[in-house]
Amino acid sequence: MLGLMQNYPLLAHTILDHAALNHGDREMVTRAIEGPIRRINYHDLRLRALRVAKALHNEGISTGDRVATMAWNTDRHFETWYGVMGIGAICHTLNPRLFAEQLVYIINHAEDKILFIDLTFVPLAEALAAKLPSIKKYIILTDEAHMPATTLPNAVAYESWLAGVDADFAWHSFDENTAAGLCYTSGTTGNPKGVVYSHRSNVLHGLMANQPDVFGLTSKHVVLPIVPMFHANAWALTFSAPMAGASMVMPGAGMDGKSIYELLDSEKINVSAAVPTVWLGLLQHLEENNLQLPYLDTVAIGGAACPRMMMEALELKYGVEVIHAWGMTEMSPIGTTGKLKSAEESLPVAEKIDLKLKQGRTPYLVEMKIVDDDGNDLPRDGVTSGHLLVRGPAISSAYFKLGEIILDEDNWFDTGDIANINAGGYMQITDRDKDVIKSGGEWISSIEVENTAIGCEGVAEAAVIGIPHPKWTERPLLIVVRKPGSEVTAEEVLAYLEGKIAKWWIPEAVEIVDELPHTATGKIQKMELRKKFGGYEF
Ligand code: ADP
Repeated sequence: MLGLMQNYPLLAHTILDHAALNHGDREMVTRAIEGPIRRINYHDLRLRALRVAKALHNEGISTGDRVATMAWNTDRHFETWYGVMGIGAICHTLNPRLFAEQLVYIINHAEDKILFIDLTFVPLAEALAAKLPSIKKYIILTDEAHMPATTLPNAVAYESWLAGVDADFAWHSFDENTAAGLCYTSGTTGNPKGVVYSHRSNVLHGLMANQPDVFGLTSKHVVLPIVPMFHANAWALTFSAPMAGASMVMPGAGMDGKSIYELLDSEKINVSAAVPTVWLGLLQHLEENNLQLPYLDTVAIGGAACPRMMMEALELKYGVEVIHAWGMTEMSPIGTTGKLKSAEESLPVAEKIDLKLKQGRTPYLVEMKIVDDDGNDLPRDGVTSGHLLVRGPAISSAYFKLGEIILDEDNWFDTGDIANINAGGYMQITDRDKDVIKSGGEWISSIEVENTAIGCEGVAEAAVIGIPHPKWTERPLLIVVRKPGSEVTAEEVLAYLEGKIAKWWIPEAVEIVDELPHTATGKIQKMELRKKFGGYEF
């Protein structure tokens, strides 16, 4: 017997309807690409999103078509996002930091029909356009007054394109499993792979993100999503904030410490989310200018491990609660968040920080477990590490056009991360499976060595790779970038690590370099380092 409840499809654009109706006067504030601060509210954002939907419909875009955006977090990007999804088309967010060849590959693979671009990326798009036969129109996210001279074929200013269209339009109706978004993983190995989100997965993931132990937004919050919309749905904030009626502040192209601080201060922001590099920039700006963060309550840090000094500075010096978050593009992306449980609130400060530096616990709608190389379940003892597997309704089952199901027979997805889980459910990533260092039959956590090394005065960035070793299989080599003006030596870094990590984890050698190679999502490219240091001898 089936339940007798309504068959109410979970559609992403209903989130904006809800925000417009119930929180219509809540604002979205944008640092516009053209310079000034722009303000709009959810009521008007919905009307503009409907106009985008109608204009796209007039262009012949329909269900299943891919419409790409190459844009920062702005109100116009947000309207476009909902406008595309609201007619059953697929919003393909492009990461402009990818290499040119990767962008060409991705756009052609996705067969995007229209490309919405910010002014910033016009030169990039011009350089690629000849290789993008599927794109029929370039819509530049600006007005006529700021429209640049461009060689892009069929280019139009967004505001002019919208000008002739009113909001008298109804969202299309379709099944909740219809594709809504497309985001390619950066493809550190092989070609980038397309993750396809559905309306249902977006709505469920947005609800999940609003659980109090995750980001728990409410209509009282003002949230600054620094994490870009092209980086896995801005970690759900583009759904969870309007769903809760939280005000949003969109930073546009300004991700440096000074620009972020200005917004935090002038807009009295209380929640924000970004990768560690951004917080590093903010902390530096605060130190140099002797500033405080009186309004900011909570920041989410994820995408890469949060270093201890960052957690300590934000929590202890600036009084901001850090939520360490882990996830991946394939998970929409939230997998775990590290808010403490009530019993843990009374632990000594250092122990609380230790716990919060783990990657956190799963919310309802994410399941996780660790297994050994043969797929056998491993205990949740906080020590044993294994391959981290996940499952849930907002986790990929296959990649775009690749057909093949990427889950095992019990629907578990292998994240490619190596982790341990403790009895309280806190997961700690020790490595990527392709980056693990095996020394004397045991694994060394490169993440822990790197994060400890970053605490050394004068060290800006650190990466550890395994170098083949005749006796121990592999031994760690630490590669370090100095802070500007620092003269820190290899010996000093090694001396700093003494006593802070297990003796046999201490790197065999330290190499100092000018810079480390990064992926488009800011992760260190270990593969490049392994190539560069191939044949290294201790
Ligand atoms: P990419 O396209 O670069 O793979 P993702 O954002 O999907 O981008 O990367 C996901 C991976 O990033 C995870 O599998 C994990 O290895 C790493 N990661 C994400 N968050 C954290 C974190 N808090 N701590 C450590 N690693 C993290």
